[in-house]
Amino acid sequence: MTGQFYHKTMKKRVFRKSFILLLFIMGTVLSGFSVDKKTAFRIERAISENLQEIIRLRRFIHMNPELSNREFQTARAVAAKLMSLELEVKTGVAKTGVVALLRGEQPGFTVAIRADMDALPIQEMTSVPFKSLNPGVMHACGHDVHTAIGVGTAVVLNTLKDRIHGSVKFIFQPAEEGAPFGEEGGADLMIKEGVLENPSVGAIFGLHVWPQPLGNVYFSPGSIMASSDWFRVAIKGKSAHGARPHEGKDAIAIAAQTIVSLQSIISRSINPTDPAVLTIGKIYGGTKSNIIADEVTFEGTVRTFNEITRNRIRTMMEDIIRGTTQSFRMNYTFEYTMGSPSVYNHPELAKIMSPTLEKLLGRQHVKSLAPQMVAEDFAYYCRKIPGFFLLLGVKSPQIDRMAPLHSPYFIPDESCIPLGIKVMCHLILDCLEKQKLLEENPF
Ligand SMILES: [Zn+2]
Ligand SMILES: [Zn+2]
Repeated sequence: MTGQFYHKTMKKRVFRKSFILLLFIMGTVLSGFSVDKKTAFRIERAISENLQEIIRLRRFIHMNPELSNREFQTARAVAAKLMSLELEVKTGVAKTGVVALLRGEQPGFTVAIRADMDALPIQEMTSVPFKSLNPGVMHACGHDVHTAIGVGTAVVLNTLKDRIHGSVKFIFQPAEEGAPFGEEGGADLMIKEGVLENPSVGAIFGLHVWPQPLGNVYFSPGSIMASSDWFRVAIKGKSAHGARPHEGKDAIAIAAQTIVSLQSIISRSINPTDPAVLTIGKIYGGTKSNIIADEVTFEGTVRTFNEITRNRIRTMMEDIIRGTTQSFRMNYTFEYTMGSPSVYNHPELAKIMSPTLEKLLGRQHVKSLAPQMVAEDFAYYCRKIPGFFLLLGVKSPQIDRMAPLHSPYFIPDESCIPLGIKVMCHLILDCLEKQKLLEENPF
């Protein structure tokens, strides 16, 4: 470790500690504050002046969806708009990521907003006029909307530089849905490539569209989304004639026993008040109905909210797989990959931001969120710095039921875009404003 590196690391730590300390104090003394009326009006005006262009951008991205780590055209469109605003723009971060820095006219901390850009391998079945032109690829998780909200927030805040105390970093991230097999990508790689440094980011904001009524936002302090791990198990037996099982080792029978036993980890060994899921979503093996299968492979996912439970499940899985196969003199392989950790809303940041949202949207539209077993790689940022992640209702009032995320019929109501921009602008300005007030009037 060089002296310079050590010095920089210490500086970063001191900075982060002081930001977290600020959050605690802000939560205690400034929790009722929000942006002034004049600024709120300027936000509204900038949104309405730029909305058409932002909607056009969203539709362009929706029509040209790109899979994880292949967001070339999307990144180009995003970078072009950010460059036209004369922000400090970096491209090619974590493969196709784009990062832009907006420096306010007043000194202060840096906060970040993150939007993800990738689409899914799904054939779009909606009949919207801007339907995907890329066969088998669709923005079925709303990342086109997130990207549009991210760009819109940059456009609006760029008109408010005089009101910004500090800087805002805009992070457009590839591969939230997971990098292709054998590749790195997503939030983890963005962090490795230094997205939270230069300048050091004090807190980060993010949102996800959610198939609940438009006008509502959903969040809670603490863990709101689960960690997500992948595993693959191969049970290795010996083939024989189907009529002479005693001469073989039946991988199908032992795989079946193993699978039943694995489910007992959740039902019998994990505290029922500590949510956890173990799902086996894929199984394959055998060649013919009258041949004893020599190998069966199954794959699945484990979801949890805390690291102790996560590690305990992994250990117990291997114990069960080893024990079951050994008792029938069979072999196995067990692969387990830790995916994103759980999304953790920093409690103090959530406490500070809650009144901002209530004042902006009305208390009845700010809903608390029960922990969700779905995962989001925003979690990686939350492990490094205070993070605030909310869900944005996108179900149009005209429909009763909305297709869920990852459905080929998923259609978010576009009115969520101006609302999302407004929410993000208020959260960011308010966060920076509060830290400035505190520095000027230390308690
Ligand atoms: Zn998704
Ligand atoms: Zn998503």
